[in-house]
Amino acid sequence: MIQKKKPVSKKKTTISKSDKTADSTALSQHRLSALVNSMADAVVAIDEKGKIAVYNGAALDLFDVNIDLSNKKISQITKIIDKDSKPVDIEMLILQTKIQTTNRDMRLVYADDSVINIYVSIAPVRVGYGESDSGGFVVLMRDITKEKSLEEERDEFISVVSHELRTPIAITEGNVSNATLVAQKKSLDPQIIQMLEAAHDQVLFLGEMINDLATLSRAERGALNVEIAPINMFDLINKLAKEYSDEAQAKNIKISTDLDPHLRLLNSSELYVREVIQNFVTNAIKYTEKGKVVVRAIQKDSSTVVEVIDSGIGISKPDQEKVFDKFFRSEDYRTRVNNGTGLGLYVTMKLAKILRAKISLSSVINQGSTFSIEFSDLS
Ligand code: ADP
Repeated sequence: MIQKKKPVSKKKTTISKSDKTADSTALSQHRLSALVNSMADAVVAIDEKGKIAVYNGAALDLFDVNIDLSNKKISQITKIIDKDSKPVDIEMLILQTKIQTTNRDMRLVYADDSVINIYVSIAPVRVGYGESDSGGFVVLMRDITKEKSLEEERDEFISVVSHELRTPIAITEGNVSNATLVAQKKSLDPQIIQMLEAAHDQVLFLGEMINDLATLSRAERGALNVEIAPINMFDLINKLAKEYSDEAQAKNIKISTDLDPHLRLLNSSELYVREVIQNFVTNAIKYTEKGKVVVRAIQKDSSTVVEVIDSGIGISKPDQEKVFDKFFRSEDYRTRVNNGTGLGLYVTMKLAKILRAKISLSSVINQGSTFSIEFSDLS
């Protein structure tokens, strides 16, 4: 038999509805502040005028102060600089933030001039769904000095190892190449020749990978040696096209140049300008099955635009957004029949940033791609 539940006596509920709401609000506020205070990261809520509204204990630790931060600006408490040691206008950065952004390249300078690397995340707070009014910002900061130095050590390690591997790889490549020639001349078993050719391909690929890794680690450490000098773009592009004509011919592809007669000398790093164009040219040859590759250069006011145009396999729209990502390679089987690391364009983008050059890409699948880069004088 189901027993009827006893009605709860109204008398027993001594807390009124509004008291209850107030109590639960206080409780959740208490929980929230306990949560924020127990966080290891510095959390600072900034109002729409750039002043601190709320902060936790970790913020006091990070800024190394023991004062009330309310209503103060971060710039009044601490000094923040970027990786080039230029001062960062942190209030302006915060107030201009429209969507959550993160940065791992800022540094905090203490009164005794000691510096730490910090991670900074800035998130605007919306007052309500769809509201455009700012409800202030939440800034999260973390000391990442240790992580950064580990990253630097890793990059240094990659750089040293890749440098040391270059010589043995070059020697192996030379020997395998010679052995293939001898085997061909002596008409040895075709199976042996095939194996030697496969070994040679892999050694070449290894060399390419080591080169990409070495440039990448140097670029990430900001340790690239940028020597600026006037570059004769006419000569540089003609030389490059000539160097790659055999490789193109082996695939029945014609490589040609189309150079503006008004090309000016470009003040930049010849080494990296060359590397960037070379990366586009090698890709154009690699990912073209038939047709041609054209390297075009146009003088546009004070900048030089170089376009590498191919009639190759093309890049699908969704892949176009990813080709500059680290280790990205298209799933297209025509990509996969070629060796590759997926690092070339990532490195190219890094170099372009250093050269203050702008890259653009247009491509139609099965018709071809055009990689363009606009170089400007560096000094
Ligand atoms: P890798 O060539 O070593 O794979 P890259 O970073 O140079 O690495 O290129 C990334 C990817 O972009 C390639 O794997 C390929 O899918 C695509 N890609 C680059 N250049 C071209 C091109 N000219 N035509 C078609 N696809 C290309």
